[in-house]
Amino acid sequence: MNDPVLQLENITKVYNLGKPNEVQVLRGIDLTLAAGEVVALVAPSGAGKSTLLHIAGLLDTPDSGTVRIAGDDMTGQSDRRRTRIRRSDVGFIYQFHHLLPEFSALENILLPQLANGVPRAQAGIRALALLEKVGIAPRADHRPAALSGGEQQRVAFCRALANAPQLLLADEPTGNLDPATSDQVFAALLDLVRETGLSALIATHNLDLAARMDRQIRLDSGQLVPV
Ligand code: ADP
Repeated sequence: MNDPVLQLENITKVYNLGKPNEVQVLRGIDLTLAAGEVVALVAPSGAGKSTLLHIAGLLDTPDSGTVRIAGDDMTGQSDRRRTRIRRSDVGFIYQFHHLLPEFSALENILLPQLANGVPRAQAGIRALALLEKVGIAPRADHRPAALSGGEQQRVAFCRALANAPQLLLADEPTGNLDPATSDQVFAALLDLVRETGLSALIATHNLDLAARMDRQIRLDSGQLVPV
């Protein structure tokens, strides 16, 4: 059997340790994401979703506990190796698209591939194929300012998947959009995830969207509980 794509074991994180404003954000998080599994992370604002996603995606380190990506223990790995694994194995999507304003939609999806050593022609073909999958290939040459909010977020999905990661981490990926657009864009994201077969941990406040995933977990007082 394949290793789980993501394993978190007894993860803890405290901010401002020993100070009056100490916050124990994560108090022993255990989570396993199997290959192809899509899991909703539901929690109110301030519960620690971003902290958890950043630790899972190697952007932050836990105070204790183990993060494994595709079976590899990330504890004590060099920054260089963590960065390499993050670039090739993990895709991130945020509430805001964070596209580079001076580059076109296509170029925004090209750049992470070029940084990963993919030849320009091959990267261009993949970028266009991804834009086609989310239905906005005709917008390939538009800069982000010339795209609607929903289109910007679709480009951000393509960028996150540009290097064919095994794991997608999303923090309120449609939280900035109006409800009707959010529904459509979220459906496009789920289609893309299902089609590529990657594992995803998607934070959302929206219980209807959460119900479309394989499993829902809630972050409550620093621990994960099933919904
Ligand atoms: P969420 O994404 O669920 O809104 P966060 O993970 O951003 O929650 O934050 C969880 C808690 O940790 C909040 O109380 C927040 O104020 C606190 N926090 C987050 N980052 C820091 C930091 N760098 N220093 C101190 N406190 C932080």
